[in-house]
Amino acid sequence: MAGEPQSDCLFCKVVTGEIPATIVRESDTTVAFRDINPQAPTHVLVIPKAHYRDAAALAAAEPGIAADVLRESGLVAADEKITDTGYRIVLNTGSGAGQTVFHAHAHVLGGRGLQWPPG
Ligand code: C5P
Repeated sequence: MAGEPQSDCLFCKVVTGEIPATIVRESDTTVAFRDINPQAPTHVLVIPKAHYRDAAALAAAEPGIAADVLRESGLVAADEKITDTGYRIVLNTGSGAGQTVFHAHAHVLGGRGLQWPPG
């Protein structure tokens, strides 16, 4: 059922603690942790605790939690002191766009110059 934990989902296991992660923030509805393969000096993932396959599915079903993910992403940027230099929130959606984990997540990237358009 939509939103329910999935036994085969990596990020559901981060939420329960079955898979270790370096957690930097947590709210009632979200967890933020450092990406294991960082692409920038700051690279943090913000995920909803509930399972949705991507950000669009999350926003359609739970717009309030989607807003929580965005708010927490901004708070991560503030904690990491990257708001002045600029940062990027990335929502890869679908395998063709580079999504590899099908549990909604926002990448918060910063601490270096970021090119546009992304690859
Ligand atoms: O957007 P995409 O689905 O490709 O992002 C998944 C991200 O999850 C990758 O950046 C990967 O490094 C990260 N990851 C992680 N911890 C894991 C498995 C994947 O931080 N245990």
